[in-house]
Amino acid sequence: MKTRWNLDALYTGFDSPEFAEDCKKLDSKNEEYEKFVNQISENSKLPEILKKYIVLRSEIKALTEKLFCFANLSFCTNTNNAKANSYIESVTVKENRTSLADVKFIKWLAASGFDPKTLSGTDLEECIFHFEELITKGKHILDDQTEQIISNLKLVGSSSWMNLHNVLISSLTGKISTVDGRNEIKPISQIRALAYSENADVRKKAYESEIRAYRKIEKAAAACINAIKGESIILARMRGYSSVLEMVLTKNRMEKSIIDTMFSAIKEYLPFFRAYYRKKAQMLGLNSALPFYDLFAPVTSGTQSNFTYSEAAKFIVDKFSTFSSKLGNFAKNAFENDWIDSEIREGKVGGAFCENLFSISQSRILANFDGSYNDVRTIAHELGHAFHGHCLSNNVILNTSYPSPLAETASIFCETIINKAALKEADKKSALAILEADISSAGQVIVDIYSRYLFESALFKARETAPLSPEELCDEMLKAQKEAYGDGLDENILHPYLWLIKPHYYNPDWNFYNFPYAFGLLFAKGLYAKYTETGSSFTEKYEFLLSETGKRSVTDVAKIVDVNLNDINFWKNSLELIKEDITEFLNL
Ligand SMILES: [Zn+2]
Repeated sequence: MKTRWNLDALYTGFDSPEFAEDCKKLDSKNEEYEKFVNQISENSKLPEILKKYIVLRSEIKALTEKLFCFANLSFCTNTNNAKANSYIESVTVKENRTSLADVKFIKWLAASGFDPKTLSGTDLEECIFHFEELITKGKHILDDQTEQIISNLKLVGSSSWMNLHNVLISSLTGKISTVDGRNEIKPISQIRALAYSENADVRKKAYESEIRAYRKIEKAAAACINAIKGESIILARMRGYSSVLEMVLTKNRMEKSIIDTMFSAIKEYLPFFRAYYRKKAQMLGLNSALPFYDLFAPVTSGTQSNFTYSEAAKFIVDKFSTFSSKLGNFAKNAFENDWIDSEIREGKVGGAFCENLFSISQSRILANFDGSYNDVRTIAHELGHAFHGHCLSNNVILNTSYPSPLAETASIFCETIINKAALKEADKKSALAILEADISSAGQVIVDIYSRYLFESALFKARETAPLSPEELCDEMLKAQKEAYGDGLDENILHPYLWLIKPHYYNPDWNFYNFPYAFGLLFAKGLYAKYTETGSSFTEKYEFLLSETGKRSVTDVAKIVDVNLNDINFWKNSLELIKEDITEFLNL
């Protein structure tokens, strides 16, 4: 089994004639698309236009994806590859060209009065949702001149504020005293990583150093966040949305009532997470509640790191096969056909991700496998994303994009399969470590995300009238954390500056990039609960659900497995699974 992926199915190299040919082809398709969009008139025949659009736009999407992914995947395994880097940029330029023509087409479609439902029963039936979504989008696009002004001003507005924040954070350092009493200056990222240290004193000092460091840049960071959020408020209003949240929800294909129901359920289950944090304080030998700086303290000695890569592959394939042979065989194929780049080597990016390549009905997974159980789980997680892509691949390529709340469905589902199996086989010590890792990360996704959602809601409300001072931002953050963590954490030692360090708050395109995490985890857990209830008859429905995620609203996707997302009991059932883990952990 190879530990490097093979990209030949895309291109054999940047110098290959196929690569050059596709670059040229994308340009000519873009030109054809522009011409087509410019020639649409009142006299044009609608069915023909829609058909031509689907064909042309699908070709462009497939070509763009193929070229971009080849450049990007090549770059990720060798960040010194200058050629790859320059092609990433040139394909992005081509993509922007397509977007300009898209806007014209979308505006025309929205103004045409066309009802996509009339396509029912025709060979374009599967594109009804796609057209409906375009029309909704079209209703929020402004006139050409205004759009031009907005996109130019965004570059010198929110994008520049985001860059400034990046510069502030990446050059920020903190002073920290070492074990032997010397003072050291370290980048903030290294100081933050000390939150995972085994040494309690190091964790505390790192936290104190972090807070001191933030005070140096709080005024500048507050200016950034006020500008970025202020711009979002103005744009949402101009585009005819009632709020920034409504704009985000529309993009995510869901209604507000769903998040309200989900957070109502979460509120009911917060006491169980708090009990876990109190237990953690006890395990660390504290007489008081858990201070924020001990939130990530290791309390278990961890599972032994004893998986070879082929053992990991076998473990995953075996466990996946207990769910369905289709999932098992899919993973086997990915391992055997060099879809996974697993080895750690210089020049390769860190972390892990999965890229679904719809143009060739395959996927590629990047990982940095170190033999630990954690990394086995990571590969299982990424294979979940790949399987999601596989289920989607029988759609037209325009129906393969799913919204962020559904993005983690298959990955967390696969992780759950692996975790349950590993727990069954583990001795007491390893079981404790697996449970702890799982509960701790669920705590971040449920409790911390809830605090971030509360904070961002309060921030937008206050920003409507005036910019917030650093003190006000810290106050709002503390209020949100108190409400979410309750008596689980020491209310005198929270983290007032999370608004300053979390990058999500500074990306103008990522407003409210918090609830999708909680949604993703609980939706996947809820599906797993359904699977344990209904057994093997669930697998086919589950695969069908994944295949439909690109062409239905979130509510309608859930309906496939008879789930009503406005029913609080669905969310409670998912939370019940985490509660069971917490109870087991407390007992162990
Ligand atoms: Zn993921």
